Amino acid sequence: MIEKARDYLQKYFGYESFRTGQEQIIEQVLGGINTAGIMPTGGGKSICYQIPALLLPGVTLVISPLISLMKDQVDALEQNGIDATLLNSSISGIEASNRMNDIKQGRYKLVYVAPERLENTAFQRELANVDIALVAIDEAHCISQWGHDFRPSYLKIKNLLKEMPSAPTVLALTATATPHVTKDICQSLGISEQHTISTGFARDNLFFSVVKEENRGRFLMRYIEKNKNESGIIYAATRKEVDSLYAKLNKAGFKTGRYHAGMNEQDRSEQQEQFIRDDVPLIVATSAFGMGIDKSNVRYVIHYQTPKNMESYYQEAGRAGRDGLDSECILLYSPQDIQIQRFLIDQSNPSQEWQAQELKKLNRMKDYCFTEGCLQAYILQYFGEENPEDCGHCENCTDKRDSVEVTTQAQMVLSCMLRMGERFGKTMISQVLTGSRNKKIEEFGFQKISTYGIIKNQTAKDVADFIDFLTAKQYIEMTGGQYPVLKVTNAGREVLLGQKKVLRKEIKQVSSISIDHGLFEELRHLRKEIASKENVPPFIIFSDASLKDMAAKLPRTEQ
Ligand code: ADP
Ligand code: MG
Ligand code: ZN
Repeated sequence: MIEKARDYLQKYFGYESFRTGQEQIIEQVLGGINTAGIMPTGGGKSICYQIPALLLPGVTLVISPLISLMKDQVDALEQNGIDATLLNSSISGIEASNRMNDIKQGRYKLVYVAPERLENTAFQRELANVDIALVAIDEAHCISQWGHDFRPSYLKIKNLLKEMPSAPTVLALTATATPHVTKDICQSLGISEQHTISTGFARDNLFFSVVKEENRGRFLMRYIEKNKNESGIIYAATRKEVDSLYAKLNKAGFKTGRYHAGMNEQDRSEQQEQFIRDDVPLIVATSAFGMGIDKSNVRYVIHYQTPKNMESYYQEAGRAGRDGLDSECILLYSPQDIQIQRFLIDQSNPSQEWQAQELKKLNRMKDYCFTEGCLQAYILQYFGEENPEDCGHCENCTDKRDSVEVTTQAQMVLSCMLRMGERFGKTMISQVLTGSRNKKIEEFGFQKISTYGIIKNQTAKDVADFIDFLTAKQYIEMTGGQYPVLKVTNAGREVLLGQKKVLRKEIKQVSSISIDHGLFEELRHLRKEIASKENVPPFIIFSDASLKDMAAKLPRTEQ
């Protein structure tokens, strides 16, 4: 049958050969094996059910979350001479029942339905009379509460499948699934995990970078000016921000569209159309924009704000370069964004477990902004690939700055955290480390530690950035919600004990840490003593004579 599939690829779609993963998925599906297919955006998932639909007797039901996308797909199929239709809320009662009759009589090979339809019991009953050979679930990550785009109606699919007398084959497709989400998908849809086919997530034509410039507005304008004739998407976090950027860009003479859920449907689809047809090269949008949009020549995706997790980021950034040509994915980082996201997670409160999970994901998003390793590899690792290779062309891979050793500085931060009882956040710790004095510091009795201000010659912001860097390196972990508390990890303890070196890419001007060497020797000695005798975490923050006294009083920390 696979030869026939190849013929059809030629005949109906005009392609010479299958892309990675397609043939394998199609072969399994034709063999009646429930399958999960994980392929990057633009990898060619649609064909994985469209070709089986042509080869299998009966109807292929495609569950797809977006109405606009369904229409495009159906139109494209009809143009290729394939009978397809759709059922969603845009189809009125009589029209819908006419279509249903046609479907029952086998007039269509493919029927697209919105997941919300599945909640309708009358519709479910009708489906029981249709000879369904294959159920394809697009954007299958929507089924998982651990996914970034959970849709409750996707949960209905499971029951629906059970009720279908024809016992159809199931094909779940997605571009973003962590191992956790993949497991969920398989479990919910009755797919054995060994029947998952993943082509990996790497997109070699994407160039990732993180920009930490203070003035993002200026960065954006300059970038767009330089790339005037290219098509790009700018994602912003809120509708308000979208509106304001939209106004600014148009005022500056850049023809720009916009898209967010606060606009009416007609407006939105007009703006989207204009962008897709290249009438306007640019669009500013919230994350409401883009799912399933097949615009191939998007040359760059800029995130004006940091998204809430890596799943969202990669899915949105992945809309660049679907044609395989080099494209840029730029993330503009600002610490406030992370604060806001944290606040939002704190406010929305379905369950503690959910919150904890979301916070964890947010932290990993932030680590992406501070990692010094390959950005693409970071992403791939996040999605569960083992030891991914460096891409060689992201911002970090092409960073030619030398690394300098910052182990001592790291030890100072970590020991200070321990001294403060691991009960505080970044701001407080940076203030103490830079020797600042404020009411809160006195309230907690840290003025003494702060007096030493071990990292005095840097600003609290530099130190805070350094803490972010250490967090990205997993020497520090963040716990808690809106006001996260920093804790030293086991790897961090190894740094403290001098078992691990810390290297950092040279920043503008690396501070020379003013600490005298005699003291250092003493400290080293002391540290050993403490570590061996009392099982107390070593510390090196104190730089005065009462050092030993204080050390003796050090609280024990349980590990
Ligand atoms: P996905 O759903 O995985 O993001 P699509 O199914 O929308 O990707 O396909 C992306 C693009 O790749 C489409 O324009 C599609 O026609 C094209 N495509 C799919 N399969 C092949 C193939 N075997 N050869 C060439 N182009 C293909
Ligand atoms: Mg798709
Ligand atoms: Zn890289």
